[in-house]
Amino acid sequence: MLTDKDFSNDQHGWAEFLPERTPNNSCKGQLRSCWAIVGAGFTGLACARRLAELHPDDEIILLDARAVAQAASGRNSGYVVANSQFGGPYDPEQYDHYSRINRLNRAGLNLLSEQIGKHNIECEWHEKGFYHAVADNTSLKEVGYFTHYLEDLEIPHTVLDQSRLTEKLGTEWYQSGVHVHEGALVQPASLVYGLADSLPENVTLYENSPVINDLNKVTGFPITLHTPDANIVTDNVIVTANFEANKIGLNKRYIIGSTLSGSFTRKLSREELDSLGSLKQWGVLSLHDAGATVRLTQDGRLCVRNTAEFNGGRLLSDQILEQRFDHHRKAFENRFPQLKEVPFEFSWSGVEGVSRNFTNFFQNPKKGLYLTGGFNGSGVSKGTAFGTAMAEYASGEQSILINDCLASSKAEWIPPRPLLDVGVWYTLRQLIKSVGRDG
Ligand SMILES: Cc1cc2nc3c(=O)[nH]c(=O)nc-3n(C[C@H](O)[C@H](O)[C@H](O)COP(=O)(O)OP(=O)(O)OC[C@H]3O[C@@H](n4cnc5c(N)ncnc54)[C@H](O)[C@@H]3O)c2cc1C
Repeated sequence: MLTDKDFSNDQHGWAEFLPERTPNNSCKGQLRSCWAIVGAGFTGLACARRLAELHPDDEIILLDARAVAQAASGRNSGYVVANSQFGGPYDPEQYDHYSRINRLNRAGLNLLSEQIGKHNIECEWHEKGFYHAVADNTSLKEVGYFTHYLEDLEIPHTVLDQSRLTEKLGTEWYQSGVHVHEGALVQPASLVYGLADSLPENVTLYENSPVINDLNKVTGFPITLHTPDANIVTDNVIVTANFEANKIGLNKRYIIGSTLSGSFTRKLSREELDSLGSLKQWGVLSLHDAGATVRLTQDGRLCVRNTAEFNGGRLLSDQILEQRFDHHRKAFENRFPQLKEVPFEFSWSGVEGVSRNFTNFFQNPKKGLYLTGGFNGSGVSKGTAFGTAMAEYASGEQSILINDCLASSKAEWIPPRPLLDVGVWYTLRQLIKSVGRDG
């Protein structure tokens, strides 16, 4: 059986900027319900909300192993994408695939935007799109590939040369880029808090309540979930635990956790902000797959996220994070030499769920058991869409959203360790070798 120690945690996510929040009680005793959801990230929160709408008379139990916003949903870079970026040459034969993914992204973006408006969630939502940029000569071709894709899919965008990027962002580092007009930036931990604290009345959220039994071994119906202090007998379980579904026996060889890290500066002074460009906040995504993600946040901090590694699905220890700090620092000083004296306030790491062929999961492995997850680096909008669709699917509904989720390709098999470590090491080495000035 698992214990609390199997769910790595620290205090370094975006939640660190927010007033302390008292987590909901953990789950205790003997419970009986129609519905239980395992995992309260964007996917589980969206799933719970939609289930509650569809079944106003049912009680829905939502369990999280940690306090909310302490896993990937509260630790990401806060890009709520409407249009995914697919690296490499544009392939017209993939038109339907690109369109399907973007329908899902947009569905998630619209659902989040609606909830934020309805519940007045303060989360620094800024819906002005993002910049996809390149700094290194070897990646310049990606601008052409990306623009070809945007044009064919009629996605509104503007191509920018170095001087226009400098004028907007205040860095001369990028040679070329594209502003994609759709998409939002957000403070992810505030958004998670806001969503968790505005759940419908028939949802009970229990935090620090890990499910610890192997759901692959569960036989019979209804299903019993065990947490350290509770047994929950339920007719339907929806697992939205991202890559950690494999800890409870699901998708074991199909998804792994990739650990990313980044750093934030302190708030910049007025003078320091004036040394930047005309935009008051922005986000840059690299057109190189291993490139840095850089943001100027609404409260005037610069944030750089540029490392990825396999750490057994765990956060980085403080010691390793300190080593990664140098890498963040170099990327920051390259881009903002005028701010060389500005210190970082803190660094953080987070773990995203990655499948080998970057597909997503939307499954009903046995009666009463459902699973969705695996959104790689873009689960804010996609997780919201898949979570919503899963609530509908498990309730017997039909919709375009469900069909789009069901059309996800089958995940490719991932070898066990130590073969896995070698494979990941080799893949990352190839990526890092070519990243150049984009890292
Ligand atoms: C550093 C970083 C940057 C990223 N940047 C972006 C970005 O800018 N935009 C974007 O769209 N995506 C980004 N991502 C990816 C995005 O964060 C994820 O795809 C998304 O959060 C997935 O949401 P989720 O709800 O499926 O999973 P999670 O957020 O991982 O939530 C799963 C929840 O399940 C809980 N859980 C696990 N096991 C159990 C159990 N046994 N019992 C109970 N609960 C359990 C966990 O505690 C967790 O809270 C980034 C990820 C990282 C790490």
